[in-house]
Amino acid sequence: MADMFNSIRWSNADPDMAERSADVVRTLLRHGHEAYWVGGCVRDEYMGRRVNDMDITTSALPEVTCSIFPKVIPTGIKHGTVTVLMEGQSFEVTTYRVESGYEDHRHPTEVAFVEEVTEDLRRRDFTMNAMARGIDGSWVDPFGGRADIDRQVIRCVGDARLRFREDALRMVRCIRFASVFGFSIAVHTWRGILSERDTLSWIAMERIRSEFEKILTGPAPLRGLELFVRSGLYARMKAPFPYTGHDTKAIEAMNGIKPEHSTIRWTLLLLACGISAQEAEELLRSWTFSNKQREAIVKLLALHESYRQKKEGEATESARHRWVKLVLAHGAEAAQGWLQLQKALNHTGAASASLSVIEQLDGWLRELRIRSLKDLAITGNELLESLDKRGGPWLGALLGQLLEKTAAGLINNDKESLIEEAKRVVIQNEGL
Ligand code: ATP
Ligand code: MG
Repeated sequence: MADMFNSIRWSNADPDMAERSADVVRTLLRHGHEAYWVGGCVRDEYMGRRVNDMDITTSALPEVTCSIFPKVIPTGIKHGTVTVLMEGQSFEVTTYRVESGYEDHRHPTEVAFVEEVTEDLRRRDFTMNAMARGIDGSWVDPFGGRADIDRQVIRCVGDARLRFREDALRMVRCIRFASVFGFSIAVHTWRGILSERDTLSWIAMERIRSEFEKILTGPAPLRGLELFVRSGLYARMKAPFPYTGHDTKAIEAMNGIKPEHSTIRWTLLLLACGISAQEAEELLRSWTFSNKQREAIVKLLALHESYRQKKEGEATESARHRWVKLVLAHGAEAAQGWLQLQKALNHTGAASASLSVIEQLDGWLRELRIRSLKDLAITGNELLESLDKRGGPWLGALLGQLLEKTAAGLINNDKESLIEEAKRVVIQNEGL
């Protein structure tokens, strides 16, 4: 579709995504509307950061956008947002709009479409997020977003107090950007947080958690948490947030954990808060974690609590058995995560296992072929049959014992050996 509109080059975006998004912008222009790239993609490209998605803002009304493109999803059509599908890529195309009537500090009650791109930019949160670029690379940067990026400052568009009062989540976003980009916060913007912080209690934990995830998986979680504590925001959420900044070693250790391992980073945060596995269960529920992530974190904490160092004079074999038992009780995944966590804690001097011990435990874990009941060469039913007994709670306990012994290498994992051991255990128990 190369024609009268020469397109800018995007150095930090997937070339296919950039090309398809340019198709969207050009098509809108050709129909006589205005259209720009806007928000995060413009900011990230300017900062030399990877561009993940490309949003477009246009003067075309949502129904018009829908009629221009063959494949659209009316995602948030009332608020002006339409998702345009373009050869496997998708883009959010939003009509220039202003918002008003944020009575609950989180949702605008009214949205009005407007004619000027500058008006649309004015409703956005920070100067660096309130910039747009045209097809030819031209800039619309009415609030000095580039200058603020150059100075490495986060600054609200307009009056910070009003902007935070409209939508309290912006305060958390502010800290998230400061922490992830390593930027400072403009004085007025910071004062705005201090004066409006009570309104944070209106915001759904879901949205706060998603900002928090970005702080934790970013390059400087400690800074984000410090700002969170210093601003007083930490004490004003719907759900409790027990971090008070005393244990920084566990937080510093996050830098030793890959960002994609967010479960381990969250576990470190809970350790820094002195939260037990049992307490974590409820806390993570209140933070609206998915069951899967909550369980993974709780298992890691539980393993951490049960781990005991090798005692003076304890035989290596016995230490190995204890470790195998822990792995079986909490799962191999939790064990792997815990070893990584310990490695990271070693660098900040807060580990409960030394590097040489970690290496040994890691070796034992890798050797471990039998990790759960499904790896056993016998099923519960087969056991019942060969023992000629009826099922009951004792069966689970017996299977557990067999699992432990095979995993530790004390008996072989074949039917015959397992049945033999089962009989021995049953006779022993009945003799009691
Ligand atoms: P990220 O890199 O995490 O995607 P982002 O700035 O792109 O950051 P999005 O949630 O994708 O964040 O929002 C896209 C754009 O929408 C922002 O750049 C900003 O212009 C605007 N925006 C998002 N959330 C708010 C908000 N709470 N208040 C005002 N404007 C917002
Ligand atoms: Mg974005």
